[in-house]
Amino acid sequence: MHWLVLVGMLAGCAELGVVSDGTSLSVGKPSHGYLIEGVRLPDRGAGYVTREVWRARGNRFGTDELVDLVTAVARRMRGHVRDVSLVVADLSGKGGGERAQFHRSHQSGRDVDLLYYMRDAAGQPFEPDAMHVFNAAALAADGTGVTVDVPRTWALVKELITAPEATVQWVFMYEPIARRLLEHAAQLGEPAELVARARKALKQPGDSARHDDHLHVRVYCSTADKAYGCVDLGPMELLAEREAGPSPLSELLDALTMTVPAGGAAGKAAAAASASTAEPSVVTAGGGAATARDGAAGNAAAAAISVPQRLGRLLRTRTDRVYLRSWR
Ligand SMILES: [Zn+2]
Repeated sequence: MHWLVLVGMLAGCAELGVVSDGTSLSVGKPSHGYLIEGVRLPDRGAGYVTREVWRARGNRFGTDELVDLVTAVARRMRGHVRDVSLVVADLSGKGGGERAQFHRSHQSGRDVDLLYYMRDAAGQPFEPDAMHVFNAAALAADGTGVTVDVPRTWALVKELITAPEATVQWVFMYEPIARRLLEHAAQLGEPAELVARARKALKQPGDSARHDDHLHVRVYCSTADKAYGCVDLGPMELLAEREAGPSPLSELLDALTMTVPAGGAAGKAAAAASASTAEPSVVTAGGGAATARDGAAGNAAAAAISVPQRLGRLLRTRTDRVYLRSWR
């Protein structure tokens, strides 16, 4: 959302007062704001499903970035979870604002409720059609024997906080469950940096429900939306970390450049290897040259394998579209 937006005087009646370029705009705070040109999340898609109870409420709308995040993360979760889908509960109402019932926040299109992955009393995974309240042992308080599936819920949190589609500010969650996820991540040997990032994102809110029956994801304002009145509350460090890292756009361009030469990346690296042979001055003398050639050939093989996968992932996650839009 950018130069054509004319929010103007009809602030309380957004749909009537706005000319937009067709992308979404999150205005104001999650607890006092609204949503222009929001996108409706389809009721089901690859790796996720919505239950009737939430479909009937109509809180199915979010910003482009949030809806991209939900659909892409759900799709990637199929790599971890084959037998059940992620259950997506409320987003914001159409247009957002206080018409979004049942929630204090969820007003500006940047909040979404997700159900924990669960197992039944027999330990089998299932797709819940209702929320269950969990105790500190991650066991349902209703006596059904249902438990939170900690490994799968950790995989979900990991996908959320590393997703290129949008930068997640919070994954609101009951603290004892958050601690279980972090312990699990440490046991898996997940990188300390990733676990630290998760620790910052996982939070039990002090001012509202303690999120012992679902998790609640909030994304930061996109750069473009911020210029038109989107307001972030709370720590900005996860966004700052993301922005300090390599831009997904430059990663995409790198990946494209590497595959351009005839014969692909292998051809390019092989050409580099033969250049070393033709100009021994660029490598150390004698055996050093052979080592350098071997190294180049090894890199060529590695590049030939890794580049198409990396490019494929970037294109699948539509990083180019998301970031070309939000970085301008
Ligand atoms: Zn929520």
